Amino acid sequence: MGRPPWADRKVSSGDRGVSTQAGILYVVATPIGNREDMSRRAERVLDEVDCIFCEDTRHSGRLLAELGINTPRFSLHEHNERMRIDAVLQRLLAGESCALISDAGTPLINDPGFALVRAVRDAGVRVVPVPGAAAVIAALSAAGLPTDRFGYEGFLPAKAKARRERLAALAGDPRTLVFYEAPHRLKEMLADAAMAFGAVRPACVAREITKLHEEFRDGSLEELCAWADREPNAARGEIVVVIGGASGEAAAARRLNTDEVLRALLEELPASKAAKVASKLTGEKRQLLYQRALELSGETPA
Ligand code: SAM
Repeated sequence: MGRPPWADRKVSSGDRGVSTQAGILYVVATPIGNREDMSRRAERVLDEVDCIFCEDTRHSGRLLAELGINTPRFSLHEHNERMRIDAVLQRLLAGESCALISDAGTPLINDPGFALVRAVRDAGVRVVPVPGAAAVIAALSAAGLPTDRFGYEGFLPAKAKARRERLAALAGDPRTLVFYEAPHRLKEMLADAAMAFGAVRPACVAREITKLHEEFRDGSLEELCAWADREPNAARGEIVVVIGGASGEAAAARRLNTDEVLRALLEELPASKAAKVASKLTGEKRQLLYQRALELSGETPA
């Protein structure tokens, strides 16, 4: 049977503008849970290439064995990626075609591969994506929050101070924001996000996407904090948090939230100090908070 017109040719040498002798590096997405999300093209490419570079050869070995693919595999993970680059380049320049896969989803999306792809492109060798699942896109597609503009933030810093600073810096971003989160940090992350973005900001926690216990839980950040507190399963499995962007309404709600912060601080501190601490907590300009603190406290300016 002939190849359909939309299919690419059998994996082979390069294309215009790139080395014609060299092979191709295919960046191949694999499922994020449900094996049926493996595309036929991904399967064919992994079967036809000369070798596959895997984030974890044993982990990917199970998927490849299920698919009956026996292509030689080599490891390429965050600890050996730079050392591997020369070996991959040599193979490509000798005319071999290689594939890059990660443990799940799309390589380079919070997975190894960036340094390799950069080096391969710099060497004038063609890099071809074989797209498929990525948790960020799957979460966005079903979360019910605007998708016309979005920002992918990956994992927030693990340390509370750095996480709060990053969230404060994002509080005014009008785009929907997508975060990957470790299950044991979900509660703290939602609480910090509620503090930075305001309790009423709409959000969605997407858990175990495409798997047996898939769950999309939406609500305001405050509602999601309460849900994460009372529901033990909230902090299980793999998690994406999608948060709606700052809108006029959200900004107004956030002002309410900064008022709450200021009121609490004004119980203990003079307006100038309260504004300084509130600015650190909320990311709002100190001068604006000072004016507001004076209004709330009735204090006269120093
Ligand atoms: N390359 C992957 C992709 O394309 O999405 C991401 C790899 S990153 C190391 C792993 C993180 O992605 C998880 O901690 C989780 O935040 C998110 N993730 C991956 N699979 C997921 C799933 N099935 N459901 C929810 N989140 C998932």
